[in-house]
Amino acid sequence: MHRVKPLPSYLVQRYHGWKATTYQENRSWYRRLATEGQRPRAMVISCCDSRVHITSIFGADQGEFFIHRNIANLVPPYEPDGDHHGTSAAVEYAVTVLKVSQLIVMGHSQCGGIQGCIEMCKGNAPELEKKNSFVGRWMDILRPKYDLVADMDDRVEQARALEKQSVIISLENLMDFPFVVEAVDNGELTLHGLWNEIGKGELEYYDHASGGFHPV
Ligand SMILES: [Zn+2]
Repeated sequence: MHRVKPLPSYLVQRYHGWKATTYQENRSWYRRLATEGQRPRAMVISCCDSRVHITSIFGADQGEFFIHRNIANLVPPYEPDGDHHGTSAAVEYAVTVLKVSQLIVMGHSQCGGIQGCIEMCKGNAPELEKKNSFVGRWMDILRPKYDLVADMDDRVEQARALEKQSVIISLENLMDFPFVVEAVDNGELTLHGLWNEIGKGELEYYDHASGGFHPV
């Protein structure tokens, strides 16, 4: 592990700045969180993209959101096969242990993972088709939805449509997890689908009745 180095100075400075200001101002709240544990009301599954700023959008404080991020905010199918499933583990913990009341899947505009999926499905990205491409195999989760957007000519509209389909397939896959179904059926958990337009700061929600996304 000799390649692991101390933090660069700009991050060290930022940390000390945070400790002297934000932490000091909220010290009792941090200590309460530490001693009493977390009780987040909501879990959010979003993309890793650095532009998607969940806590800022919702003005959330420490301890409010249980956040899981992965490429293209995807929930994989329910596969209790004994393998490593980071996303499924996070969902299981949030629903069965933390007992969150809301589970929010949030997609976003200009998603690189979605664009990669489109190029892969069009046959333009052979590197993503390889078995050893973690991104490619992860985006296979969304492949079944590509047919719905394959005929769209406008590249921006096509990307947006598939970004929203990534939210929908994740919600569909969530409802294959027995503990999610049980919590939803018991009225303890509600699922929500969102899509964030980064440049305009807009937020749309998925409306199951109409099958579309509408402004929040
Ligand atoms: Zn993304």
